[in-house]
Amino acid sequence: MTNNIVELSGIGKKKASLFAKLDLVTTSDLIYYTPQRYEDRTQISQIKSIDFEGKYSFLVDVISYEKKMTSKRKQMHIYYVSDGSAQLKIIFIASPYINQFFHCGERYYIYGQVKLNGMEKIIFHPEFKKASEGSFGIESIYGLTDGLTQRDFKKCLQQVESEILAVEEYLPQNFIDDFDLITLSKALFTAHFPENMEWLELAQRRLKYGEIFDLQAALKLEKLEIADQAKSRTYNSVNYDYNNLFAFELTDDQKQAIEEIINDLNSPRLMQRLLQGDVGSGKTAVAIAIADFVVKSGYQTALMVLTEILAQQHYQSFISVLPNLSIACLTSSVREKKKLYDEIVDGEYDIIIGTHALIQQSVNFKNLGLVITDEQHRFGVNQRQALSAKSLSTPDVLVMSATPIPRTLSLIIYGDMHISQIRQMPLGRKKVKTHYVKGSKYQAMLDFIAEKIALGQQAYFVAPLISESDKLDLKPAEEWYSELKVRFAPYEVALIHGKLKPDEKSEIMQSFSDGNIKVLVATTVIEVGVDVPKATIIVIGHSERFGLAQLHQLRGRVGRGDLQSYCFLLAKNAGKIAQARIKMLVKSNDGFEIANKDLELRGPGEILGMRQHGLPDLKYIDLNRDLEIIQEISDYIDELMNENLLPADYLDYLRKKLAL
Ligand code: ADP
Ligand code: MG
Repeated sequence: MTNNIVELSGIGKKKASLFAKLDLVTTSDLIYYTPQRYEDRTQISQIKSIDFEGKYSFLVDVISYEKKMTSKRKQMHIYYVSDGSAQLKIIFIASPYINQFFHCGERYYIYGQVKLNGMEKIIFHPEFKKASEGSFGIESIYGLTDGLTQRDFKKCLQQVESEILAVEEYLPQNFIDDFDLITLSKALFTAHFPENMEWLELAQRRLKYGEIFDLQAALKLEKLEIADQAKSRTYNSVNYDYNNLFAFELTDDQKQAIEEIINDLNSPRLMQRLLQGDVGSGKTAVAIAIADFVVKSGYQTALMVLTEILAQQHYQSFISVLPNLSIACLTSSVREKKKLYDEIVDGEYDIIIGTHALIQQSVNFKNLGLVITDEQHRFGVNQRQALSAKSLSTPDVLVMSATPIPRTLSLIIYGDMHISQIRQMPLGRKKVKTHYVKGSKYQAMLDFIAEKIALGQQAYFVAPLISESDKLDLKPAEEWYSELKVRFAPYEVALIHGKLKPDEKSEIMQSFSDGNIKVLVATTVIEVGVDVPKATIIVIGHSERFGLAQLHQLRGRVGRGDLQSYCFLLAKNAGKIAQARIKMLVKSNDGFEIANKDLELRGPGEILGMRQHGLPDLKYIDLNRDLEIIQEISDYIDELMNENLLPADYLDYLRKKLAL
């Protein structure tokens, strides 16, 4: 029964192409494109009790009428109406025939935006309806694109009413029954043509619950299907000893994480594990030990990171700890890519470190055993498949993250991954001293930094922008760089930002890492993971513009050795929330505590929103409000799955959706 939208009456090629811009091609697409919001015009307000501007409905009698000219010589029709509680002024401009439809002495329902002008309440161009025709309903408002109107949507949807009513239910019947949900066709019909608020709420509830069910069931199924694949690899942990790899003693948490991961690798099922630990807790060391273990068993390891700078950094760390292994760094700045690809597939490299390019380009592996990703929020079936297509068998997966998140959120992002946690910091780490630097202390701060530089230490200066912006009154990195170059001469000061070429960036990072550059002025390209132990100072300009988690990440760039480190936060016009963030950072160094505060200040929706890699778009779920119900439905699905109560046709539907 599904047609192309272009076949509906009143829709030509031109309109159809506008619908296509919204990914709406078939009538079925249209049916699932539910309104963005609703205007409840059923609630009749009292004119007298309106204290705020906004949109309202009234039931009024027209009392008087006059015609005037505007200053631009347009006709203005002015009506005074009353609902018995007070009067309201209605103005129509340049509507020559309005007085044929809107008459003195008649009663109307009106709806429109009320403006307050002193004591006077005015509505320009309200919608109106004769009282005898009944009141306004609930108006569905669709997300539009240029050239489409709400009318276009209404016209189309009216033509597909019967198709909506024929939509078949696909959710398991027990879920519908146990959670008292209305059917899908009723929910969709109501979403487009709401009769009243009660039904609309039921419809929205049904659509949301369905979305949660699908998402959670998909994540669980994905996990099961992966876990069900028996591994064709066996690792060899006899006599494997990671303790002598490092110059330092690993913390107990690091050791435990390594043991857990090795156990997991040794199990006959594919591994999907998350390694969580605050910035600087030593996740990379764990990754190095694990990679070494995998290689000693005869398999390749790939490490995937977000940026080229990080790839370079990790490459340096890996070769310094594992000098006897052959390690490749695959970034876009590699000159002879083809040669490198050939060598990787021939098995000449044990460990391959790179950005996303690792799975996107024509990289093939000889015998990939493990994929580690750093700061990557989700590593789904698709990516895993992309990788396993490049190797003989599907790899084990380890995801590393410094973002501590509540359990429910992790359910949404990762599905039910196993988790290893590093809670303690390496021994001898000193807490980074964090100060809020007010304007008058700025010069004193620079003097202090100059003393530290004279002692061989280094500093980051982080700015929110590279160059000057017309819109924002901010000190850009370029300007700061010019200033600091003079201030800290003859010591070397450099500027790094995202627009530099990859090899320019890595050259600068290398030189900073080697200690030649003493002061690095940067944009947030240094946010994640960069590790330079002699860098003991970070100054964050306009810290009011950064989020709490981001500030904590940035601060994590220092305090990575045994020297006392410092974080200086500068701020201009910091509002209330920015002040709260700065206070929190000055007070706490604990990533978990900070994440909770962040959650409180911003809500999970925003936090996830920023990091929603690889998550499907959530149409109905509100992460700020729905955590409890997500948990409840997640538990419910576990029960169904345990008792094998998920119907086969629903599982088929999910598999298709996931392309498993
Ligand atoms: P992150 O968890 O942020 O990835 P890293 O693995 O980069 O942390 O570790 C931060 C710094 O701490 C590195 O310089 C690393 O060499 C060092 N380090 C890691 N583990 C230990 C340890 N157990 N003792 C001392 N230093 C350590
Ligand atoms: Mg790291």
